[in-house]
Amino acid sequence: MQLLKFLPGAALLVPSVAFSQQPQHRQILQIVDQHAAHFSATSKTIWEYAELGYQETKSSALLRRELETAGFQVQSPVADEPTAFVATYGQGAPVIAILGEFDALPGLSQAASPDRSPITTGAPGHACGHNLLGSGAALAAVALKEYMQQNHVTGTLRYYGTPAEEGGDGKVYMLRAGLFRDVDVVLQWHPDSENIIENGGMLAMNSARFLFHGVAAHAAMAPERGRSALDAVMLMGSGIEFLREHIPSNSRIHYIITNGGAAPNIVPDTAELYLYARNPSLPVLGDVWNRILKIGQGAALMTETTLEVKDVGGTANVLPNDALAKVAQRNLEEVGGYRYTADEKHFAEELQKSLPPGGAGDLDSTALIQPLRPPDPNAAAASTDVGDVSWNFPTIGFETATFVPGVAAHTWQAAASAGMTIGHKGMIIAAKAIAITGADLFSDPQLVSAAKTDFQRQLKGRTYASVIPAGQTPPLDYRNK
Ligand SMILES: [Zn+2]
Ligand SMILES: [Zn+2]
Repeated sequence: MQLLKFLPGAALLVPSVAFSQQPQHRQILQIVDQHAAHFSATSKTIWEYAELGYQETKSSALLRRELETAGFQVQSPVADEPTAFVATYGQGAPVIAILGEFDALPGLSQAASPDRSPITTGAPGHACGHNLLGSGAALAAVALKEYMQQNHVTGTLRYYGTPAEEGGDGKVYMLRAGLFRDVDVVLQWHPDSENIIENGGMLAMNSARFLFHGVAAHAAMAPERGRSALDAVMLMGSGIEFLREHIPSNSRIHYIITNGGAAPNIVPDTAELYLYARNPSLPVLGDVWNRILKIGQGAALMTETTLEVKDVGGTANVLPNDALAKVAQRNLEEVGGYRYTADEKHFAEELQKSLPPGGAGDLDSTALIQPLRPPDPNAAAASTDVGDVSWNFPTIGFETATFVPGVAAHTWQAAASAGMTIGHKGMIIAAKAIAITGADLFSDPQLVSAAKTDFQRQLKGRTYASVIPAGQTPPLDYRNK
């Protein structure tokens, strides 16, 4: 997931001075503080592992061990995903879920230093901060569990260990396996360069490999015997370019040619185009996707080749939930932001020198909580499998300043921030906000029902449908292709 929306506007911002805290919140915040150093170290270990999607063996094992030690019952593996797991504490209603991710990104290995210095050139790195995401979610879960135990709070708390967010659709297969079945509300967070509530947004996205099969022939001696799979790929590309004019302008379509044949003097008998399509609306994307499929079929018809649509992937946009957003905003403001030490300020200033002109954000903004904003359909956005969860259960997200202001996700600067104390401080804020929001949900059945009412309102009668074919298994080797 990539978030690019640093908006200065200090006049509207809420200062970091915490509001008077409810006694139960105060208790939870203290528990989080007690465990904060430990889970910061956990996040650092996962940052060092930097494992790619569906290969997060050590990261998943570490988080499972932490949750088991804290008293959760861990089910693993689940959903035919070796690194997926579900950790549960308590029983009965309500069922509150916290999402954790822990996969890294290829090629973004980076030391925790303010200049570009890979630990291992070309190796993966935590440039989306999922080391913080998984560890911070675990910190929230462990603290909330301890609070529930101490105060005899009833209900079920679950941590979902969700692999391969970066392109592997891990959560979609976990949903299909029925692992979320009885969940009432989902809480999630993502590292960012500011402290803000993520109330919906992002783009629904479908992806697939379009593999054409033709007939090979000598391209000079017997071209008439050949049927070029590459011709089909090129015609499909042309068709997509003409399609762009006639679809909603907030759509995105991007593709690469992953196989264009072996040599110019051989008519290619296989060729492949790998394509992503996105739109803020899941149903609109569905219409666009059907037209893309027709273009592929048309290209095969024109060239007398056959088309195989492979490795279909898909994630939904994230549905907002206004009832949850209000509570989340209040709680994030209650927790407040944080300030840099002199060393951190020096690190941030050095790192900001590598950002494009005008790209550096205000370092004091980490102390602020941004105002609640409705999702902006025109904002630059990427896609996440949290979207699929949000189409099935009331979901709300927190974002905190784990990256130096102005730093976007999926950059070495983000990986650097995620591996040091700036990342840890942002993570602890997220854990606190999640934990006290969880406590509110356990103590207030009306809040849970308001979240469900708003969920139905956001659905507007629409139903969730994933483009991933029924019966397709998780693409465990997608990082090896
Ligand atoms: Zn990402
Ligand atoms: Zn991410």
